[in-house]
Amino acid sequence: MNNLDPLEFDPNKFYLGGLCRRRHNWQETGKSLRAKRSNGYGNCVECEKACKKANYEANKEESNRRSKAWREANPDKVRALGKAYREANKDKIEAYREANKERKAEQWKQYHIANRDQRNATQRKERLMRPRKASVITETGKGAI
Ligand SMILES: [Zn+2]
Repeated sequence: MNNLDPLEFDPNKFYLGGLCRRRHNWQETGKSLRAKRSNGYGNCVECEKACKKANYEANKEESNRRSKAWREANPDKVRALGKAYREANKDKIEAYREANKERKAEQWKQYHIANRDQRNATQRKERLMRPRKASVITETGKGAI
């Protein structure tokens, strides 16, 4: 016999209790799904979910700022974590790379087009800086002397 009832919740962890104050009606039962607690008091599962989300939303900046500060303070650990992740997910990363090869190539192309002017300007400057055949270029480059 299937002891998970048709309402699909684990009766060891949850139970149907009175309707919560936000009136989360579980599967039209007129009751709220509540988490079993050792002290017998169960919070509405939907309310807890909403509460956790609201907490995160309210502290998003703080939480992002903290993790950024941590990353900056622990570059070695960040590197190690990244390496460990890549080691553990080689297949996934390879598959992703394979699946996005064309998109990536297109991105690079667009990037180069978008930055062409800037790049050309930089190259021109570098050419002028180079002392090769300097006598002619610098004289004209300086304008009238
Ligand atoms: Zn609720």
